[in-house]
Amino acid sequence: MGHYTKLDLDRYLNGDMNTLAKFLCRHHLRHCYECGKLLEELRSDNDLSRELRLAAERKQQAEKICNGRGDKTVMRLEEILK
Ligand SMILES: [Zn+2]
Repeated sequence: MGHYTKLDLDRYLNGDMNTLAKFLCRHHLRHCYECGKLLEELRSDNDLSRELRLAAERKQQAEKICNGRGDKTVMRLEEILK
């Protein structure tokens, strides 16, 4: 069997694969250095984008809380989050 593509491994990471495909993929990854490396790359990509998304969400939430408490608080908050 050939190597997995980045798209395949992305689906594997996101649980977007049926049970048999997942099983075969896991088995392949155990023995394949190349695909394992690709998976690691994808994993750190995913972590990074998740962190960025979380930071943006936290900022939004904080701004929502501060709304109605006057512009001064929001401005101070933006300085802190910079
Ligand atoms: Zn492979």
